[in-house]
Amino acid sequence: MNDEAERDPAAPTHDRGAEPVTTEEHNPTPDAEAPAKRQRARWRPWLLLLMLAALIGLLSQRPELRRDALETTRTAVMDGLNISPRAIYTLRLRIAGLEDSALGQRWRSAVDRAGADPRRFTTRYATRDEFAADRIEAHVYETSLKRGERFEIRLRRDTPCESCRSALYVSLERRAADSDDATDWTTVATLDADGHTESRVVDRDGDYRVVLQPELAAEASYEIAMARGGSIPFPVEGAGQRDIGSGFGAPRDGGARQHHGVDIFAERGTPVRAVTAGRVRTGSGGIGGKHVWLSSGMLGIGGARYYYAHLDEFAVDASTSVEAGDVIGYVGNTGNARTTPPHLHFGIYTGFGPVDPAPFLGAPPDLPGT
Ligand SMILES: [Zn+2]
Repeated sequence: MNDEAERDPAAPTHDRGAEPVTTEEHNPTPDAEAPAKRQRARWRPWLLLLMLAALIGLLSQRPELRRDALETTRTAVMDGLNISPRAIYTLRLRIAGLEDSALGQRWRSAVDRAGADPRRFTTRYATRDEFAADRIEAHVYETSLKRGERFEIRLRRDTPCESCRSALYVSLERRAADSDDATDWTTVATLDADGHTESRVVDRDGDYRVVLQPELAAEASYEIAMARGGSIPFPVEGAGQRDIGSGFGAPRDGGARQHHGVDIFAERGTPVRAVTAGRVRTGSGGIGGKHVWLSSGMLGIGGARYYYAHLDEFAVDASTSVEAGDVIGYVGNTGNARTTPPHLHFGIYTGFGPVDPAPFLGAPPDLPGT
C-alpha cells in the first residue's frame, strides 16, 4: 500500500500481512466500514471549525438582533434587509441590456442626482408633485430623526389609467448618523403609494429620506405628507416637554456619573401614568427613593424598561400588570431629590443601557393635509 492510498478515505484498508497491526488499524468490524469511520474522524476538525465560525457569526450578529428586539413590541422596528422592487427593476433593465444605455444610466443615476439636492424638512411636510414621461428623474425628501421618534408617511398616487399602469418605486432609506460617506444609504423599507399611513418608531439616530422614482418613461402624480413626533405618551399628567428641567447626559456628582433620564417638574402629588402596558415593580430607598420599574412587552420581557423615580406615593401594588395610561404613582422628591423641588425622574432602558427619553416624549406626529 502506498502513501497515496493512505490519504484516500475511500481506499481499501491496509494489507495487514506486510507490517505489525497497530491498534488503530485493528478493527474488528467488516472492512467496508473502516473507511467511513476514518472519514468521520477527518470531518471532525472541519465540524469544529464550522461550529466556531457559526458561533462567531452569532456573536457578531447578536448586538444587531438585540438592538432590534429592544423597541416596544407594539411598534414596527425601522430595520430589515430589503431587496426593493426598484432593485429588481434595475436587474430587469440589465437583463434587457438597457442598464448601460444612455437612458438606463440616466435612470440609475437619477436618485443620486436628486439626493445631492434633496427637499429637506424638519417637523412636517406635504406636497403634490408629478413625474413626466419625457424626463428621467427621482424625488427625494430628507430629514434627520432621533431614536424614539415616531415618523409617519402618507403617500397616495393618483390612479393611473388601466392601460398605462406602471410602477412607482418608493423607499425609505437611512444614512447612519456617524457615516462620513454622504451616499451611504440603506433601504429600510419599501413603501406603497396607496394612501395608507405608514407609522414607524425610529430605532437609530440618522438621516432618513423618502425616495420616489417611476419606471423608465412612466408618468406618475402623487401627494405625500410626512411628520415626526414622539412615540409614547407623556408620563406626568398635565405636563409637557417645557417641564423637562434636566436633560439626559447632564453631569451628576461633580461629573462622576451622567444623568440617565430626564427630570419632569410638577406639583407634588401630580399623577404619574404608565406610558405603555406592561408589568410594574415598585421599590424604595437608594437614590431613586420610591420608584417603579415598568417593563413593556409580552410578560414584561424583551421590551424597553421605564424607570419612574422620586415618587411621593405609589398607586399600584408591589408587582402587578398595568395598562397604558394607568396611574402608577404621584410626583414627589424621595431619594436623593430630597433637597430639590418635586419632580419625576423618568428613564428608558434598553438591553444596551439608558437612552435619551426626550425624543420619545415629543408631541405625537401631526400629518399635514395635502
Ligand atoms: Zn433625574
